[in-house]
Amino acid sequence: MVKAANLGFPRVGAHRELKKAVEAYWRGDGDAAALQQTARALRARHWRLQADAGITIVPSNDFSLYDHVLDATVTFGAVPARFAGAGASALDRKFAMARGTGDVPAMEMTKWFDTNYHYIVPELDADQQFALADEAPLDAWREAKALGIETRPVLVGPVTFLSLAKAKDGSAPIALIDRLLPVYRALLAKLAAAGVAAVQIDEPILATDLSAAQRDAFAHAYRALAAENRAITVAAYFGALGDNLPLALGLPVQGLHLDLVRGADDLEPALAGAPDGLTLSLGLVEGRNIWRTDLTRALAQVERAVARLDADRVVVAPSCSLLHCPVDLAHETDLDAELKSWLAFATQKLDEVAALAQAAGQGRAAAAAAFDASDAAAAARTGSPRVHRDAVQARLAAVDAGMSRRSTPFAARRKAQAQAFELPPLPTTTIGSFPQTADVRKARAAHRRGELGDAEYQAFLERKTDDCIRRQEDIGIDVLVHGEFERNDMVEYFGEQLDGFAFTRNGWVQSYGSRCVKPPVIFGDVARPQPMTVRWSAYAQSRTEKLMKGMLTGPVTILQWSFVRDDQPRADTCRQIALAIRDEVVDLEAAGIRLIQIDEPALREGLPLRHRAWQAYLDWATECFRLSASGVRDETQIHTHMCYSEFNDIIASIAALDADVISIETSRSDMELLDAFTRFNYPAEIGPGVYDIHSPRVPDQAEMGALIDKALQVLKPEQLWINPDCGLKTRDWPEVEAALRRMTAAAQEARARLPQRVAAE
Ligand code: GLN
Ligand code: ZN
Repeated sequence: MVKAANLGFPRVGAHRELKKAVEAYWRGDGDAAALQQTARALRARHWRLQADAGITIVPSNDFSLYDHVLDATVTFGAVPARFAGAGASALDRKFAMARGTGDVPAMEMTKWFDTNYHYIVPELDADQQFALADEAPLDAWREAKALGIETRPVLVGPVTFLSLAKAKDGSAPIALIDRLLPVYRALLAKLAAAGVAAVQIDEPILATDLSAAQRDAFAHAYRALAAENRAITVAAYFGALGDNLPLALGLPVQGLHLDLVRGADDLEPALAGAPDGLTLSLGLVEGRNIWRTDLTRALAQVERAVARLDADRVVVAPSCSLLHCPVDLAHETDLDAELKSWLAFATQKLDEVAALAQAAGQGRAAAAAAFDASDAAAAARTGSPRVHRDAVQARLAAVDAGMSRRSTPFAARRKAQAQAFELPPLPTTTIGSFPQTADVRKARAAHRRGELGDAEYQAFLERKTDDCIRRQEDIGIDVLVHGEFERNDMVEYFGEQLDGFAFTRNGWVQSYGSRCVKPPVIFGDVARPQPMTVRWSAYAQSRTEKLMKGMLTGPVTILQWSFVRDDQPRADTCRQIALAIRDEVVDLEAAGIRLIQIDEPALREGLPLRHRAWQAYLDWATECFRLSASGVRDETQIHTHMCYSEFNDIIASIAALDADVISIETSRSDMELLDAFTRFNYPAEIGPGVYDIHSPRVPDQAEMGALIDKALQVLKPEQLWINPDCGLKTRDWPEVEAALRRMTAAAQEARARLPQRVAAE
């Protein structure tokens, strides 16, 4: 019998019950018992849901109150020493590790592979000791067992765990494998003794480029673990295994899970190379996106596997944990029926997995309804005029290389812009947003509910914008922004105005801890029916003599933070978005906006997991940015903004964006991140953030002055802009005003110290 498995289910709950319970606990509105009660109820509901859907291999220990990597760090006894006394309970200590306390800084957080889920980075050192500090995986299994549901506990694999860890002392965490393995063995022994039949060990690191040390660690670790328990399924996902496939197939375990959505090419070599007795778990239902599976196509792959291996050695599963999907499509009452029929959220994906397993065993007719609906959706999407718009396709086909090039090189543009703007040296500006205070959020919500009319809402936003401009003028900022009060979110705001996008009511996905995001759905060809920001930028410019910078989100970031259609290459969807943004840029210029910032904070996170795929991605990503930016005259200055901390390995591509000015986050690293720009001899202008907006602390003028001096040691004065390191929307006005006044004073003081040559230029 082909079995139906799941690898993990969203924790947050269809109505974000977990988020609410965790945040209530943090606020002191509920005790630990109430939080655990909510968590238990969610786990019970999700286990039952999976079992009822026909999933025979149901995961446990996939749940977490914050993050499963953090949980593993605690289970393995690797709590950093500074948290020894933190928190009144084990629960509070765990939250302290994730969020910090007044005195103890939080552990680092970073993205889980190429997803938008963030994990807490294990902090190890060369002398690291591990110990089995709790039995959380066994507790979870027992909890399900008590409900009558047999589950398969999920563990983060030892090689992945160490590969994702960081050592403050510069040592290589992977070298700790021999110290860590006894803890896994002890845990596996306990699970086996308790009667746990099978374990899922997640090793997504198998989808990345592995070092020799990592490869050795794999072979070595699984020999040791198999001695304890052979009923292990190693789950690899997020990409093809490719050259790592032989290694994975050679692990002495019972099962290997493959992501056949992203790694379809792995199927044939895996079938050919699977040793006798190895079960293959086929990840055929996309766990990272919201499209309904083409079941007919997926079934053909299951049948190939069954023909080669026998049904008993084949399992059907989602490509990865469903953690990255919203919970249940049934709650999307606002989506039209047709679009809805094309989608599947986590709950629907369980049905798809079950239907595939059923059809593999008893024939397609046994799951006829699911297959018919899937076929109908596939046919409708292929032929739908909502998806395929001739005008968009024709325009895309007509794009030529010249459209993604400014007509003049930077040096000439620079001169034209300097002449036109007459800015002082070291000009000051901000990144775009200003405090989204309670009144702004309240007015937006009231407008959405229809309680505040369009005209009143517009008038309110104009007042906010006026106030923001007046404050910037008063502070003495050189290049102003309108403040982005009309925007809820930098992607949603644009998606809502573009054709080809849809929005869910409840399509929440965990981003980190209790934070969730609700990505838009790009279902069809993208077009801009009318200008999106021109009204606001033009209004703002009309209210000041100073230069007003227009503010747009770039095509790569819009793509990256959405659920993207799967029926054409991502690059093509990105080019369509780029054309829409291009039109906006050109319209802003026509409306008298002379500086336009196109934010691309997500450029780096789009990097593929495999290094050899980087350049192809960077090529189309930078081309899309340029396509959006290159429709303007020399005198129009294009800015971009990025806020992540690693530029070294993509600096050539950042330069290839050919933006006139880039603002970046560097204040937290004391300008060290500027190294990449100086070593590369970055040609254009740069605004390295001089204060960290992520903290409520208002830095003093001397501190910012010192950072400016540091930047001036490596950048030419005519290259340098002075700005904060990101948008200010999460801050309060008093701290923002204080910080910007000091920033402006620091810039003025630095100007006074510049050699005459520059001041006179
Ligand atoms: N312009 C945006 C803002 O200031 C940029 C946000 C970001 O970098 N994520 O809010
Ligand atoms: Zn930013």
